[in-house]
Amino acid sequence: MADRTPLVAGNWKMNTTPAEGVALATALAAELPGGQDGVEIVVCPPFTHLEGVAAALEGHPVAVMAQTIHDQAKGAHTGEVSAAMVLGTGATGTIIGHSERRAAGETDEMVAARVRAALDAGLFVILCCGESLEQREAGETEAWVKGQVAAALGVVTRDETDRLAIAYEPIWAIGTGKTATPEMAQETCAQVRAAAAGFIDADAVRVLYGGSVNADNAAQLMGQPDIDGALVGGASLDAAGFATIVRAAA
Ligand code: PEP
Repeated sequence: MADRTPLVAGNWKMNTTPAEGVALATALAAELPGGQDGVEIVVCPPFTHLEGVAAALEGHPVAVMAQTIHDQAKGAHTGEVSAAMVLGTGATGTIIGHSERRAAGETDEMVAARVRAALDAGLFVILCCGESLEQREAGETEAWVKGQVAAALGVVTRDETDRLAIAYEPIWAIGTGKTATPEMAQETCAQVRAAAAGFIDADAVRVLYGGSVNADNAAQLMGQPDIDGALVGGASLDAAGFATIVRAAA
């Protein structure tokens, strides 16, 4: 098995003011002075905070990433932010295809274009996939996530494997307090990895689990053989709690 360094990313979503974001990042750095051996740590604040948070974390091994980017480099796209703009803040990557964005209209085609634009600009990508409760109950989870993965990784080359991670996030578990069991999460993360095999080095890519990960369930989830870390929403807004999740990944 390839040596996959665990990755724990905090998705702050649309939370905190810029000043609160800097305070949260500073508190996280204080919780984890020197980072955490053997774990890559990422925070994903809103666009407006990227520069301030990146500055606050300068010299500290916590990477700063955006929550999305637009696929175009520039132009008449009011309200959108390009990959180069994100890179210019000091951020080094971005989430792409989060289910909350897909629910607001982001299609597989848009996700693929954004993945390509991010990689072309030199950003690391955390690609999200995941099924709804209806899909899980209908037995469609594997086919659905495999379709999402294939659509997005169709634009990626094998030599770009180490420039992305894939987060499996069952929609029914996001922000609900309902976590997939470790067995369920393992099963689908293994299916995600298998789906990636047609496009990239599946043995080497990090597959993360996301969906109500917290300090109590993190170790069991990340202890599964195909789960290489976590994408954490709500629990990443508390520096001490997020630091506990990071330590659980070690
Ligand atoms: C997320 O937003 O990616 C997420 C997993 O949220 P939460 O941890 O709050 O369920």
